[in-house]
Amino acid sequence: MNLFNQALLRLKPALEHISVSDEFLEVIRTPERVFQFAIRIKSDDGRVRVFDAYRVVHSTLLGPGKGGIRFHPNVDENETKSLAFWMTIKCAVAGLPYGGAKGGVKVNSKSLSPQELERLSREYVRGSWQLLGEDSDIPAPDMYTNSKIMGWMVDEYCKIKGSFERGVFTGKPLSMGGSLGREDATGRGGFYVLQTIQKFLGLPKTGARIAIQGFGNVGASFAKIAANDGHKIVAISDSSTAIYSEEGFDIDAVIAYKAKFGTLRGVTFKDGEFHETPHSTILHEDLLTMDLDFLVPAAMEDSINNKIAENVKAKVIVELANGPVTPEADQILAEKKIVVIPDVLANSGGVTVSYLEWVQNKTGYYWTEKEVFEKLREKMVYATEVIWHFSKDHNCSLRTAAYSTALTRLYRAYEEQK
Ligand code: GLU
Repeated sequence: MNLFNQALLRLKPALEHISVSDEFLEVIRTPERVFQFAIRIKSDDGRVRVFDAYRVVHSTLLGPGKGGIRFHPNVDENETKSLAFWMTIKCAVAGLPYGGAKGGVKVNSKSLSPQELERLSREYVRGSWQLLGEDSDIPAPDMYTNSKIMGWMVDEYCKIKGSFERGVFTGKPLSMGGSLGREDATGRGGFYVLQTIQKFLGLPKTGARIAIQGFGNVGASFAKIAANDGHKIVAISDSSTAIYSEEGFDIDAVIAYKAKFGTLRGVTFKDGEFHETPHSTILHEDLLTMDLDFLVPAAMEDSINNKIAENVKAKVIVELANGPVTPEADQILAEKKIVVIPDVLANSGGVTVSYLEWVQNKTGYYWTEKEVFEKLREKMVYATEVIWHFSKDHNCSLRTAAYSTALTRLYRAYEEQK
């Protein structure tokens, strides 16, 4: 089954708890706009390279399209549609005045020079700017895109438009209208959600054993915040390896290692010499199935399938990635009474601070980091409490509670606009 149809399967359990019309479901199953275009750039050696690019707006029932742009070899139409659909649900769960959108370029960005990456980013905007706007469709960073790329993109957009409309992109550099606290917002928001669930479950506040799958911006910032709060990060992986430490990693040291060598792999040849890391290596699968309090998938879709789910021993899974647990795996985890904090709640801190950035851009009034964190915490805790109580009242999973809550909000808007 393709990823988009698989993503739509998530609607079904929610429909046992809420009642919506078939017409509305048809609307939700159909993205409002799917735009595919080609990006042509000249590489540094003078050759022309062409890339497939996408921008999908899934829904604008609750507001303008909102969602990141991903640069990754797996990007295609179905993946972009799924991610846009998840953004619709996520923004509704977080209570933001946004619909859902997503974009991407099928590219291995690691193979591009910084100059090629800049040309690709600017060309993305040249190919799609007519569809974007601070009140129509607002992109942000996603996998393998970051604030620097958002800076190039917003600069290109403002040049084309001949006006200063910075709120059209979020996740920008601070000097270009970015918000304090946006960089680690997804990890921080995920941590606030987890703290709220810990309280409900009666789990100890500190001392948990945590494994993090994926050590990009989101995984690394979550790890840092959790370790600073007294938890032990015992395993970490990236695409090249998985590492283990019984006493818990010094996260700053791991971040510095990754920044220096670009990988967590033990032995790296760089600057004419080998550098060794003291970490012992484990299999990727061992990280997912070891004895843990919290397992935090922060990498790709579908990384926990039914085979892995059978062996998961964590008490709680915090989905910082989008779609890391397949629908079949979800069922197995539910039977094993493992609590899954769904992506549409757990990773909504990123888009929540994007919203705060957009508000600051629109009003021209900027908050301190402390103010941003407070607003983020308040929104995440409230969203989590609503979902938790729904799941208790309806005796369903947190995912079903999140989808039910989101669909109810979307349905209300649909009925009122009809
Ligand atoms: N790409 C992030 C996500 O998947 C952030 C989206 C945004 O800030 O608009 O939630």
